Amino acid sequence: TTFDDLGLSQPILQALDLKGYSIPTPIQEQAIPPVLEGRDLLGIAQTGTGKTAAFMLPAIDRLRESDKQIPFKSCRMLVLAPTRELVQQIATASKDYGSLAGLKVQNIVGGTSVNKDRNKLHRGTDILIATPGRLLDLIDQKAFNLNAVEVLVLDEADQMMDLGFVHALKRINELVPKERQTLFFSATMPKAIKELVRNYCRNPVQVSV
Ligand code: AMP
Repeated sequence: TTFDDLGLSQPILQALDLKGYSIPTPIQEQAIPPVLEGRDLLGIAQTGTGKTAAFMLPAIDRLRESDKQIPFKSCRMLVLAPTRELVQQIATASKDYGSLAGLKVQNIVGGTSVNKDRNKLHRGTDILIATPGRLLDLIDQKAFNLNAVEVLVLDEADQMMDLGFVHALKRINELVPKERQTLFFSATMPKAIKELVRNYCRNPVQVSV
């Protein structure tokens, strides 16, 4: 299987070429086709499996297809991750793909200037990668909203629960539109995570690597 076989667009294939990726990893092979079709996804996978590209590549193609304008003080795709380090990692990878697809990618994390984040997100963005706490700070300040979210990603959901983001995740779920696509990733599947999946996802395709 090649990335071409999976149905990705030309700009994405070019970005992959530039990065030197020629063969999809197992999670990419399994996740990309259903995500391109608009299905919700439950991915049981660890870091290092290539899961970032597994959700970013098809989601970017979905955003390109729906071709909406950048929303004021909002985003079209929201990626939630537990830690500053993971947010940075996802952002670095996403900027390579996103810029070739003509999409604006921003990231926010706690422990930095909230005012800078307010300014940076004022005009909105296509893709936002965030830790749940900082995102809710901005929402509470009316500096950001989730009304325009078309694709929602939870990365390392079990880690987010362990770090105490249970309430934050509940709130975020209430703020995103009902009609959206959700891509949910966790390395483990304890009861609390299954419950979270039930609340967040609609008939997800399950992929486990
Ligand atoms: P992740 O699990 O998303 O953190 O990715 C793990 C590492 O694998 C990252 O350094 C990626 O750049 C790399 N990677 C992801 N997909 C591929 C691929 N198809 N071919 C080669 N390297 C990849």
